Amino acid sequence: METVTSSCVVEWAKDFLEQAGLELTSDEQKEQKKFASLVQTPEYKMFLTTMLDESSQIRDNAQLNKRVRQIIRKYGIPDFFSKSDRFLIRLYMAGGYLFPSIAMPIFKYKLRKETDKIIIAEERPLLTQHLAGRWKNNIGQNVNLLGEVVLGDGEARHRYEHYLEALEMPDINYISIKLSGIYAQIKSLAYEQNKRELVGMLSNIYRKAMQNPYTNQSEKQEYKFVNLDMEEYKDMELTYDVFIETLSKEEFKNYTAGIVIQTYLPDAESNFRRLVEFAKKRVANGGCPLKVRLVKGCNLQMESIVSSLKGWSCPVLPTKVEVDANYMHILDLALRPENAKVLNVGVASHNFFTIGYATLLCEQNGITDSVTFEMLEGMANHLPRVMRKLKKNIIMYTPVVKAQHFLNAVSYLVRRLDENTGKENFLTHSFNLKLDGREWEFLKNQFLDAYGLKDAVNTKPYRTQDRRKTSPITKVA
Ligand SMILES: Cc1cc2nc3c(=O)[nH]c(=O)nc-3n(C[C@H](O)[C@H](O)[C@H](O)COP(=O)(O)OP(=O)(O)OC[C@H]3O[C@@H](n4cnc5c(N)ncnc54)[C@H](O)[C@@H]3O)c2cc1C
Repeated sequence: METVTSSCVVEWAKDFLEQAGLELTSDEQKEQKKFASLVQTPEYKMFLTTMLDESSQIRDNAQLNKRVRQIIRKYGIPDFFSKSDRFLIRLYMAGGYLFPSIAMPIFKYKLRKETDKIIIAEERPLLTQHLAGRWKNNIGQNVNLLGEVVLGDGEARHRYEHYLEALEMPDINYISIKLSGIYAQIKSLAYEQNKRELVGMLSNIYRKAMQNPYTNQSEKQEYKFVNLDMEEYKDMELTYDVFIETLSKEEFKNYTAGIVIQTYLPDAESNFRRLVEFAKKRVANGGCPLKVRLVKGCNLQMESIVSSLKGWSCPVLPTKVEVDANYMHILDLALRPENAKVLNVGVASHNFFTIGYATLLCEQNGITDSVTFEMLEGMANHLPRVMRKLKKNIIMYTPVVKAQHFLNAVSYLVRRLDENTGKENFLTHSFNLKLDGREWEFLKNQFLDAYGLKDAVNTKPYRTQDRRKTSPITKVA
């Protein structure tokens, strides 16, 4: 099979950049400036992270007031706030802090406003309006009720029921769920029990999705879609097992659901092969295709920290170039017509070169309907519009939260901030990107290096310990 050449991808990315520039509205430009300010001034990122975290955790206004003043003194007043907001903060520092019961609610409101393009309000009618707007523009919405890694069964139950309720809403037709958000007892020593209970819960969620069909853009009745997000490496095996076991049940033979592959893991290829083999058998037995969303992976910091604390090998590929190379390597496999037919593909990336490679590969292989392009709400909202003009199927990942549960949004926001400011990440270099400028050259060379490596990237997992094969330590020295 012919390959897509790197020079074609670079040309595609150049055209895309030009079209993206024409599509950017003045509001979106302001949003981009805000991110650019965070990239250029690391203290502002610290400011925002600390403020978001503490303002959602400290309930007492007097205590929060004290912390807010300390944080402003430490990091200064970031220039991503509007002129009027900066004036208000100065006023607060000059004397407004003497009235915490007035100042703190205003402060929290303003902070929430700063993030309202990234985290959508779950309250009606705000959510209704947002979803209706996207529907009108033929842009799919994957609603993600924020919250992950629950600490107790009560909270887990609440989140689980929340997913079931969301599937009853007429305007929500696609949701993403996280196993760690609906089940608080994931323990490797109770693997079989965890799997059994999670298969039961996921079965109920799929059933609910089937009982509440919706009318799609082509006026056809369709089951609602449920995607299983991928999180930490430690839960990867369990997540695939639960997915496959649930969908092996006869009652879900005609139900299409989705899962994720993270290409920052060398395990991506074996994960892909496992899913595609399962999907092939299922379709051969008269069942429906499944779907995989390809992502690079968002828990880089977490995986590195946990590995170093435990003295384990980090499961993630060591460089960004290798991660990009692995993404293209998996695209080469996933976008083969015989594979995409049974395991549809979601290309989830904001990187023009990654999107360009996938687009050209689809064109070359004659793949249209079985691929969607997926992006995160609020990161670069003009890009989905450009993709729609190119007649691509678009799905926006839409995190939603109610004001009183904003704490649930903090870890999501911090991951997005990391992504927007990571030294080698596309978005970090994308604000004010000019053709043939320094940033463009950096991104282009990063792509060319990854392209050169895509057929030789490591696909063997780094964590290989099998405790069944090692004898336990019996004596302590
Ligand atoms: C619709 C959608 C859904 C998503 N769902 C999930 C999900 O379920 N699970 C999940 O984990 N992520 C998910 N993500 C996030 C995704 O994994 C990426 O982090 C994000 O999209 C950035 O990738 P990119 O191609 O847009 O940008 P790029 O800038 O090209 O890639 C950034 C990524 O490269 C990798 N990277 C950067 N620096 C290094 C380094 N030094 N060493 C090794 N790797 C490095 C990291 O994975 C980083 O996130 C989702 C993203 C989207 C758009």
